[in-house]
Amino acid sequence: MDEFSLIEKIRKGFPIPEDITGIGDDCAIIPQHDGFETLISTDMLVEGSHFILDEISPFQLGWKSAAVNFSDIAAMGGKPEGSFLALALPSKIRNSWIDDFMDGYRTISMKYGIPLLGGDTTSSPDRLTICVTVMGKAGIGKAKRRSTAKADDLICVTGCLGDSAGGLAVVLKGYERHSDEEYLVEKHYLPEPRIEEGMILAGYEGVHAMMDISDGIGSDIRHIMEESGVGAIIDTCALPHSPQLVRMCSRHGLNVKDLSLEGGEDYELLFTVDPAVERTLEVKHYVIGRITSDSRLEWKGSDKDYMGFRHF
Ligand code: ADP
Ligand code: MG
Repeated sequence: MDEFSLIEKIRKGFPIPEDITGIGDDCAIIPQHDGFETLISTDMLVEGSHFILDEISPFQLGWKSAAVNFSDIAAMGGKPEGSFLALALPSKIRNSWIDDFMDGYRTISMKYGIPLLGGDTTSSPDRLTICVTVMGKAGIGKAKRRSTAKADDLICVTGCLGDSAGGLAVVLKGYERHSDEEYLVEKHYLPEPRIEEGMILAGYEGVHAMMDISDGIGSDIRHIMEESGVGAIIDTCALPHSPQLVRMCSRHGLNVKDLSLEGGEDYELLFTVDPAVERTLEVKHYVIGRITSDSRLEWKGSDKDYMGFRHF
């Protein structure tokens, strides 16, 4: 299939709202509304670095490429408005593979009502590369940053930690897949961005700092500390874990804490909140620690130091 038939096929499969101009012109046109700010984020996924082509299905990869980007808007408490998809396709990629990839991308885009508004399509001499840009909006001054945590805030997460890293361990180590293992692998390949949760949390002034967990708490909490100029105590005994992860780890002798602090890609939200406001939050969450006024990071209940996942 040539570049233009592929773009035409993508265009047909992705309906867009009437007030937006999307695929087909040199630029997309998105109307702006008073009282809002635009949020924009880009994420790249490179074959070999972020995914192994033979391990992940095209549907899962399409889903995940969109999910990790939607999660960046969720991390600020914004509402995603549209995405852009750039593909560098090596000749080994078949048409049916692209169809399945676009099916995954479409399924999550429809689930969260986020139209595909443009992109770019090129060939690649070797590796498959996927770059997604997502745009969103938040009320002026309402987007939650990493730089606004305050001493004595409680540190919270919106869901279980380590499932994605557990799923990756199952894949890499080739464990036999029972229902727990399948559950974790699905968590790894089909993450859910916490868009609704992020938008609700953005409505509370007492929620001070927020981000999504992409590299593991061991790495991500340091971003909040550095940007906010604060310290943190994480209670490693308070981390929420799924029963599936706990059972899988005990079957294979893996350490649950290590997976949940060093492994990334949970895409839950990590936020800090005034203790008086925490009790009133109408979003499921777990308290895992506290912000301090010095610049140290303490792991309560563990004598290790956790660093999270790093690309370099
Ligand atoms: P240009 O030459 O201006 O870069 P293209 O021929 O690359 O335009 O793209 C034509 C239209 O198709 C543009 O609106 C572009 O945003 C869209 N497009 C190209 N590739 C993709 C893709 N992979 N997904 C979604 N839209 C795409
Ligand atoms: Mg182009």
